[in-house]
Amino acid sequence: MKVTINRWNAISTWHWDKLQDEVCGICRVAFEGTCPTCKYPGDDCPIIIGECQHAFHMHCLIKWLKTESSRELCPMCRRKFVFHSAS
Ligand SMILES: [Zn+2]
Ligand SMILES: [Zn+2]
Ligand SMILES: [Zn+2]
Repeated sequence: MKVTINRWNAISTWHWDKLQDEVCGICRVAFEGTCPTCKYPGDDCPIIIGECQHAFHMHCLIKWLKTESSRELCPMCRRKFVFHSAS
């Protein structure tokens, strides 16, 4: 009997492992915690990654993008912030 192992494509492209050690570029709180707006980590406070690979709490990013001075730029690298698609 021949068994084909087809698990190579199971390698995740999700950056969570890497993000564990990193902090939000806006509030400077670690991603394993929540943004200052939230009490508990979880789905209500997801992490948003831009195409520039900078990551922020969703709430921090929304607050930032709403300020006039942001001009929709990434607060870290000042490039236009484009949402990195998760898929
Ligand atoms: Zn934050
Ligand atoms: Zn939050
Ligand atoms: Zn950036």
